[in-house]
Amino acid sequence: MQEHFFGCKCGCLQHVTMISFDEECGEVYVETFLNHYLPLWQRIKTAVKYAFGHKSPWGAYDCTIFKDNDVPKLISLLERARRITEQPQNNATGAQG
Ligand SMILES: [Zn+2]
Repeated sequence: MQEHFFGCKCGCLQHVTMISFDEECGEVYVETFLNHYLPLWQRIKTAVKYAFGHKSPWGAYDCTIFKDNDVPKLISLLERARRITEQPQNNATGAQG
């Protein structure tokens, strides 16, 4: 498993995204750090609401704005993943495309 780190254009270290790439099966994992800057009581309140099925209209997302010079690296990773997943032994149906 290869791990690649991409910093955010805004420079915030909490927006760093890790992309892991499995060279055997071509799977790509994207992991972004989620902020937990709320005070303890607010986090407990959020957890209780979640336990009772409350759905936030905003979800629990954060974002990374890829730096211009990281885009070719990202494209290269995805192209490698596509080549691996398009190989007949990694394609369950054997179909291309
Ligand atoms: Zn950012």
